[in-house]
Amino acid sequence: MRAHCRRMVLLHQPTPFDFGLSIMPSVVLKAGRDKALLRRHPWIFSGAIAEVRNDPKPGDTVALLSSRGETLGWGAYSPTSGIPVRIWSFNPGEHIDPAFFHQRLAAALGRRHDLPALRQTNAMRLVNAESDGLPGLIVDRYGDFLVVQISAAGPELWRATLVDLLNDNVLNAGIWERSDLEVRRKEGLQPRTGLLSGREPPPLVEIHEGAVRFLVDLTQGQKTGFYLDQRHNRARVGAHAAEGDLLNVFAYSGGFGLASLAQGAARVTQVDASEPALALARQNLALNGHEATRAEHVTGNAFDILRRLRDQAARYDMVVLDPPKFAETAAHLPKASRAYKDVNLLGCQLLRPGGLLCTFSCSGHLTTDLFRKIVADAALDAGRQAVVLERLGADADHPVNLAFPEGEYLKGLICRVD
Ligand code: SAH
Repeated sequence: MRAHCRRMVLLHQPTPFDFGLSIMPSVVLKAGRDKALLRRHPWIFSGAIAEVRNDPKPGDTVALLSSRGETLGWGAYSPTSGIPVRIWSFNPGEHIDPAFFHQRLAAALGRRHDLPALRQTNAMRLVNAESDGLPGLIVDRYGDFLVVQISAAGPELWRATLVDLLNDNVLNAGIWERSDLEVRRKEGLQPRTGLLSGREPPPLVEIHEGAVRFLVDLTQGQKTGFYLDQRHNRARVGAHAAEGDLLNVFAYSGGFGLASLAQGAARVTQVDASEPALALARQNLALNGHEATRAEHVTGNAFDILRRLRDQAARYDMVVLDPPKFAETAAHLPKASRAYKDVNLLGCQLLRPGGLLCTFSCSGHLTTDLFRKIVADAALDAGRQAVVLERLGADADHPVNLAFPEGEYLKGLICRVD
């Protein structure tokens, strides 16, 4: 009898499925516009929304309702964004609370727990936004320090909870915020950087990838300080580099060049437009104990420098091309394609017969197929025959949720160019 009464009481708790929804902020989708959501894609575009109810504020959790009134999941609301809802959960029974974030963080950490890629390093991505079920949140570890990057209104609202959970679950000396991305403006958010908890990181934090050591500037460096996604690819390029001359274009702090010197490359020319990046590359050269004569650092626009080198008849055994994202949006694709073609053409022209072109694109809008076609056209225009030896992508601490193809932005090829 008592058990029966308790069940009765429980049955009458307000749940999101009955009258609770009438006061709950919610977003109603247009009829037939729930297809992507049913395939577990985590973004709701403004064109799919029929109605916003009960006045949600930026970052608030909203119920996602189909046109027939069914609850499809829960998301974070961002009124100014072209993506007004990023979905936290596809489970209608989920509560978006600290326990939910704890479970998502634990899952992200668990996904990386035994990754072979991470056995040889103390720098890694711990949370990869949408692909780890935490849209708009990136957490990177650099040695004892964590860097948090928030790019959307949802995690912005949960910042304090997320910092507490990181402190409870990830040993660290300090957590630094690097939410200084342009995309935050689309979310109506100002850039934000600074200490979130613990100790302020020193100006340069030392990390290592295998035996290669790097100094990382967490507070001023690009991205959160380092291009962690290229870790595996630095090792692959290094593996091909014995005794050769390497031209490392878009070098940042020297990653591909230093990985190659460690594997016995004779010399490397590091090219980048950023003077602070190359200053760090010089420091990294010394940190790894290489003689200064094994590297040359050239600051300037890569396109001009490559043309000049070509005209001077400079030739290399390997050329690495790791440009910034040329296609920020789909509209930039034609112009970006020409830039990729130009730089790859120059890369081919600078290679000795039988040399290796190690070429990358981090433009999500440029498909793997189109990228391969551009590299093929570049080789053709250079009058060279190229064969693909390796196909590369982001390392395993940047997992890609198959329901979220946008997560797969980085692609690379190692080609032998005869
Ligand atoms: N390969 C690097 C990451 C490169 S990121 C690594 O493994 O760490 C892209 C780099 O291109 C940035 O360092 C940026 O400063 C540089 N860059 C951007 N535009 C450039 C240009 N026009 N010419 C030369 N370098 C450029």
